[in-house]
Amino acid sequence: MSKILAADIGGTNMRMAVVSQSAVGAVIEHEYRAHVALSEYRAPSAAAAETYVIQVISEAMRPILQQHAITAVGVGFPGFFDADGETLLASPNLPQLKHVRLASRLSDQLSCVVRMQNDALCAALGEWRDGAGKGQTDLLHVTLGTGVGGGLILADSPFVGQHGMAMELGHVRTACGELARMCGCGGSGCVETYASAQGVLKSYQLACGDEHGSSVTDTAQVAELAKDGDAAALHAFEQAGCHLGKALAHVVTLLDLRTITVSGGLMGAWDLLHPPLMASLNEHVIPMLQGQVVVLPTLLSDQAGLLGAAELVRMELVRRT
Ligand SMILES: [Zn+2]
Repeated sequence: MSKILAADIGGTNMRMAVVSQSAVGAVIEHEYRAHVALSEYRAPSAAAAETYVIQVISEAMRPILQQHAITAVGVGFPGFFDADGETLLASPNLPQLKHVRLASRLSDQLSCVVRMQNDALCAALGEWRDGAGKGQTDLLHVTLGTGVGGGLILADSPFVGQHGMAMELGHVRTACGELARMCGCGGSGCVETYASAQGVLKSYQLACGDEHGSSVTDTAQVAELAKDGDAAALHAFEQAGCHLGKALAHVVTLLDLRTITVSGGLMGAWDLLHPPLMASLNEHVIPMLQGQVVVLPTLLSDQAGLLGAAELVRMELVRRT
């Protein structure tokens, strides 16, 4: 099979990779980065927003496609797509874009086969195909970073749901009552408000009693403090693990999954997160599944999303043959 261009698009950055298939799986041959100002751009109309996004993505990709003679593109994007990976149904970063045939328009611009899908679902595809979830029929993959995301593979296929929003794990409620934290989704008590990078930082600052004035401003610092035995920092990761374990227990009780994989910016603190996560998962899951679930760190570092985007379009190419 010929080479594929994979892309992982965020609000401000776009990572791209030329991916080829070897006997042992997908291999990233070249990596590229481009700055994109998608989350900062305010378009005068929905049509202008659509044109802008197509233009930004296609301009970044075109020279790479020409240099490597590539004819298939897979894209992970922060939004909700239909099952075909053709139509962007909605995007929190770009609220003007609704029901846009983004993949088709990019395909026309680039003269390539293009498939797009939710970024967390692409990470799930990557981990399932080439990473810690390899060989599993069903897999939940969790992304832990600025938010908490989830991607679900069921019966060897990506599962998107009716509105492209399947496994919005970050917004499973794990706290209620007056003290439940407010979430960007409009709800409160969502697991993301405790187990994301911002959530860990907030837990640390609250435990310090210095929510606004703390000199600690990122989770890497909190992790260092925790490793030195700082009680507030240890508490912050304990909280994150407990809430995430509770959310995962609900998913496992509903779907009877055996394997869950995790990637993202918080993986540097995996040793701090994993013990409370497993204790909480086993405490909250249906008793018959206690001890039956493994939660594994990624084997793909930060490349799960890129490899999954490549897998997305590879599956489409296989389907066409
Ligand atoms: Zn929420």
